[in-house]
Amino acid sequence: MALSWWRALFAKKPAPPSKDRCCICGQPSGAFEASGTVPPGFSTDGVVGLGQRENDLCPSCSADSRERLLFAYVERFVRDRRPASVLHVRWREGQANWLGKLAKDNVTTVTPWREREGPVHGDTSAELLKLPFNDGAFDLIVCADVMQRVSHDRRALIELGRVLAPSGMIVVQVPYTDDGRLTDEDSQIIAPEDRIARFGDKSFVRLYALNDFRARIGMAGLETSLYDAFADDEPRATAQRLHPSDRLILVGRPATGG
Ligand SMILES: [Zn+2]
Repeated sequence: MALSWWRALFAKKPAPPSKDRCCICGQPSGAFEASGTVPPGFSTDGVVGLGQRENDLCPSCSADSRERLLFAYVERFVRDRRPASVLHVRWREGQANWLGKLAKDNVTTVTPWREREGPVHGDTSAELLKLPFNDGAFDLIVCADVMQRVSHDRRALIELGRVLAPSGMIVVQVPYTDDGRLTDEDSQIIAPEDRIARFGDKSFVRLYALNDFRARIGMAGLETSLYDAFADDEPRATAQRLHPSDRLILVGRPATGG
């Protein structure tokens, strides 16, 4: 009798929410579609974050696995740390929708390029080099799919570090290689078809090697760590159809004192 009572008690507990849905919009993940293309003349072998992926694109909110990875981390950061001020360095429109819902009125947006045009010809990212904000203004900065498009990335990293609060976090996402290659960049390459063949996208000015990118961030006086969603919560990462090689780069100020 007692055993039955206990069973009934546990049976009445609400079932955990299904993880088998898009974490952003709730669409069943079984509906995810293949997405991405192989850029003409460019080999995506060994490149994390470019190329074709199966079960990737949510047909409802248009987020792919990289965006769900970003959401998964940022959603928890906002829930746990409750940042009072968030800077969104915006490239993808969809990010603005969910970030605005997560962080409500606390989001300031900079769009370094004219809407929908992108930095196709030359460097139009000057706004990133002189942000109109006070030192330490932001507790969280979300900067995804931006730095590979910024000609003066080292200066932009210093500027982002300047506006970061002492205990704040910059969440960075870029496509990268991690197979011993060096960062490939050439500011003389301007023609869209040449950039596609060399870097994988008409608006990219480089393709980072992960370690070199982390070193550049280090030279800007900041520290990095990598976020691996599978190491953090493998069932959730699997349910979200995240990609095992994708990492977010978490950037903060070095701990001071001693
Ligand atoms: Zn979705």
